[in-house]
Amino acid sequence: MNLILLFEDDFVKDRQRVSLRGRRHEHVLNVHRASAGDRLSVGLLNGMIGTGAVTRIDDDALEMDIVLDRDPPPPLDVTLILALPRPIVLKRILLSASSMGVKRIVLIHSRRVEKSYWNSPVLDEKKIKEQLILGLEQARDTIMPEVWLRQKFKPFVEDDLPDMIKGTLPLVAHPGTSEPCPSQVNRPVTLAIGPEGGFMPYEVEMLEAAGFRSVNIGERILRVETAVPVLLSKLF
Ligand code: SAH
Repeated sequence: MNLILLFEDDFVKDRQRVSLRGRRHEHVLNVHRASAGDRLSVGLLNGMIGTGAVTRIDDDALEMDIVLDRDPPPPLDVTLILALPRPIVLKRILLSASSMGVKRIVLIHSRRVEKSYWNSPVLDEKKIKEQLILGLEQARDTIMPEVWLRQKFKPFVEDDLPDMIKGTLPLVAHPGTSEPCPSQVNRPVTLAIGPEGGFMPYEVEMLEAAGFRSVNIGERILRVETAVPVLLSKLF
């Protein structure tokens, strides 16, 4: 936790003092081992970042006086479309994408996604938020990403994609295609990443018909959780 993310109802006094219990309190107590007078990085959800001066910390609660005076880091201008991964992998990707500055993630169905993944508790809104918050705290960011779920591939491609890709460079990462992924593109990107078994050829064709270009990141086939950061750091 490199930044303590604050929520409106943490404030106890004039938006200047917060009182925390639970996970954040325990982390500061046991991992930071902070004491009164210490200064910690804080940020307000969807707001500015700054410093919290510890006024009191004991087994009961953590209190800090807060100054919020800086903007969070700039976001990545990308919409990440992910064929729904296995629940455990999804958790990791949500955290790492959130820490890399992705602000919009669309989880879609595709032929090689196991249907049962859609019933996983990891997809509960609260569980998704938990991972996104861990990513924000990791990267000292405050802006909560949005996550959309689209359980039908064809309606997603036909109804949602045309608006979504407007003004962006739409790319589908697909091993074995001849075009290498461009780097440092300096423009908004819509990036589609396939499931563990890859997109079906007809799915890639549908994405291409919608305006996507298929690109590769080398002859090594990477796991989805590795492909995501490799692609993002190449593109931005
Ligand atoms: N057997 C599958 C591999 C899928 S890897 C296949 O051959 O298609 C899972 C996803 O990660 C892929 O769908 C793609 O989006 C991305 N990926 C992994 N390695 C890649 C590479 N070298 N080039 C482009 N995309 C890659």
